Amino acid sequence: MSDLIKTFSGKAAIVTGGTRGIGRAICLELGRRGCNVAFNYAQSVEAANTLRDELTNLNVESFAAQVDVANTEAVGGFVKEIKNKFGRIDFLINNAGITRDNLILRMKEDDWDAVLDTNLKGAWNFSRAAIRFMLKQEAGGVILNITSISGTNGIAGQSNYSASKAGMIGLTKALAREVASRNVRVNALALGMIATDMTGALDDAYRAKILEQIPLGRFAQPEEIANIACFMASDAAAYITGQVIQIDGGMAM
Ligand code: NAP
Repeated sequence: MSDLIKTFSGKAAIVTGGTRGIGRAICLELGRRGCNVAFNYAQSVEAANTLRDELTNLNVESFAAQVDVANTEAVGGFVKEIKNKFGRIDFLINNAGITRDNLILRMKEDDWDAVLDTNLKGAWNFSRAAIRFMLKQEAGGVILNITSISGTNGIAGQSNYSASKAGMIGLTKALAREVASRNVRVNALALGMIATDMTGALDDAYRAKILEQIPLGRFAQPEEIANIACFMASDAAAYITGQVIQIDGGMAM
């Protein structure tokens, strides 16, 4: 791999939910660019070990732990360990997320709590823990929240998920205002349909119906999102903060 693209050499990133899908692709793209990468996950121990091996092969340091993003105390400890290991935290990508879809009359309180705790509280937990260190660094830092067009537009059957993803947008904007003067940028990516396990379970008829609504006529690959995430983390995006960048093949324009 050419050294020309190692623009993140010596930097350190945290990616929540790194073991699969979009998080995994972001970890690998950061690694390709020379960034040391820490990530957490809920249960995929084997996938975590494989990803660590792949990052080692890219000649970057990695660190991983099975930490529930919703567990405030565990997140605090994990982020502190990352800072001790890497000496800095430049990028935080709040990516871990789940769905528990159902129409509201059939949705259980547990489904609401699990989605809000993972998607929204998880992003708040990691942001609060990481920002403590970013504010003390001259280089500042970048936080990127992975949200969804379900949060900007609302999707029937996703009252919990849409609320959590809309909440992440509010979190993005409030935090961007709070920390801009200290050179910390906070942005969100509002994704459309991406080819991962999360969308893999859709039945063929529903998938065909969704495809009709996407002007570009396809789902995105996780690697396409990873490239945009790295652009947003880079100095090329130094004047972008508090924004929600829509990446949806034109679906929600
Ligand atoms: P995915 O393939 O289902 O992967 C989810 C990742 O999050 C896994 O690494 C999982 O770990 C981790 N995770 C889940 N709950 C966690 C918890 N409580 N604590 C720690 N880690 C946890 O999902 P994806 O499709 O890549 O989605 C990534 C993000 O993009 C999510 O926030 C999702 O809402 C958002 N998004 C996705 C799409 C899409 O079309 N795929 C569209 C819009 C937005 P384990 O492997 O251990 O389970």
